[in-house]
Amino acid sequence: MIDPTRSTAVHLLAQMSSGEVSAEEITRAYVDRAERLNPTLNVFLHRDVQKALDQAKAVDARRAAGDSLGPLAGIPVAIKDVLCTLGEPTTCGSRMLKSFRPPYDATVISKLRAADAVIVGKTNMDEFAMGSSTENSAYGPTRNPWDTTRIPGGSSGGSAVAVAADLAPISLGSDTGGSIRQPAALCGIVGLKPSYGRVSRYGLIAFASSLDQVGPFSHDLADTALLLGVIAGRDPMDSTSVDTPVPDYLGTLDTPPPSLRVGIVREYFGEGLDPEIEAAVREAVRVYEAAGATVREVSLPHSKYGGPAYYLVAPAECSSNLSRYDGTIFGHRAEDFSARTPEEESIPPLIRMMMASRAEGFGPEVKRRIMLGTFALSAGYADQYYNQALKVRRLIRNDFDNAFKDVDVLIGPTTPTAAFKLGEKTSDPLAMYLSDIYTITTNLAGIPGLSIPCGMTKSGLPIGLQLMAPAFAEETLLRTARVFEKATDWHSRRPGLS
Ligand code: GLN
Repeated sequence: MIDPTRSTAVHLLAQMSSGEVSAEEITRAYVDRAERLNPTLNVFLHRDVQKALDQAKAVDARRAAGDSLGPLAGIPVAIKDVLCTLGEPTTCGSRMLKSFRPPYDATVISKLRAADAVIVGKTNMDEFAMGSSTENSAYGPTRNPWDTTRIPGGSSGGSAVAVAADLAPISLGSDTGGSIRQPAALCGIVGLKPSYGRVSRYGLIAFASSLDQVGPFSHDLADTALLLGVIAGRDPMDSTSVDTPVPDYLGTLDTPPPSLRVGIVREYFGEGLDPEIEAAVREAVRVYEAAGATVREVSLPHSKYGGPAYYLVAPAECSSNLSRYDGTIFGHRAEDFSARTPEEESIPPLIRMMMASRAEGFGPEVKRRIMLGTFALSAGYADQYYNQALKVRRLIRNDFDNAFKDVDVLIGPTTPTAAFKLGEKTSDPLAMYLSDIYTITTNLAGIPGLSIPCGMTKSGLPIGLQLMAPAFAEETLLRTARVFEKATDWHSRRPGLS
């Protein structure tokens, strides 16, 4: 038997149906590898190995009995710990939710279960998905498998490394400003943020509700297409999910799109872009030209306001969403909230309990966001900050609408630099925020964004190519990306972990 952990979901499905390997053997191979590598990489916050093996055995038994099986039957999947899993720890990378066990499954989790996937664990993340390095987790950072002194990106760092280090063939993350695409780029894998409304957010613990989306990580686009097909679609439990047909992403993947008009985003090649990343992206453009694409430069003139607008809109929504963690109903409750000063004496005990619970439960970045957002929304400042940011958001969307009159997809770098060192940016929030300058605007506009591997730096770190398409044009996005994937072999590189 070849090592199943060096494979992809699509290949494993074929091998299971031809009887070459069983679901149990596959799950066992992945959990054994995780056993060895997790202590170094810190990918999983929670695993239930027995349950995963039982799920895999059940798939084998049903296959033997001739039952019809779901599209992910026997495939291990790792889940970012921001998604609710019934009765199982769901911490969101926070002390606040250390002992939270949700009373329900997120819709995407129900869909995975209905597809007969095997859930192998919950993955590490920046607390409440706020961050770009996974260093904001209350449970220690995840490490990049290409260089364990470096960060894997974030906030979905655990789910990205689960796939990059072959602890699962596919995984789910969430992306509010880049949290799927940025770690995918820094770990050398594929990551897709679907259009806003394409995938249900029911059971996704909210960070910024007008920006959050769930999406897949994988080694190649066939697996992306497969997993997106399983999780996409209207959900009555999420009123922002859209009732539009879900195409057969996998079935159409290998048919090149009817037109191949590619736009290069001028604004993404300015100051701050590492020359090695720029060279790899320019080379990707040549690959498209060689494949017969018409390539032209396009402008998204309001891109430079994306960061400022995002860092008002996202914290504003976060400050509202996170007000539910007050120690009363669920989440961390402080044991000691006694008054220590005369000033505290004058605060009612209930309020002191809430203050102490929030002070203990949240880490520094989450507190910073709550304060920023509360300020941006406060009476007297809302017009100057929050409402102004919403106007900029509209202009950013208009930029994309204009660009898509002339081209089918936009391309550019996913990140300005390759993976940085652990600790390099932790004391400088602004430097950390700049990791997402190229990914943030797609969330503000609600359009899909994809990162695929497109090169390596001289020091052996992966580089990501970002592709963007109009809202709900994931099929075009995947088919266009596939043209590049077929012409290159960057997606087949794997880190040299023993
Ligand atoms: N890094 C960005 C932030 O910190 C994006 C995070 C995300 O997409 N969840 O907000």
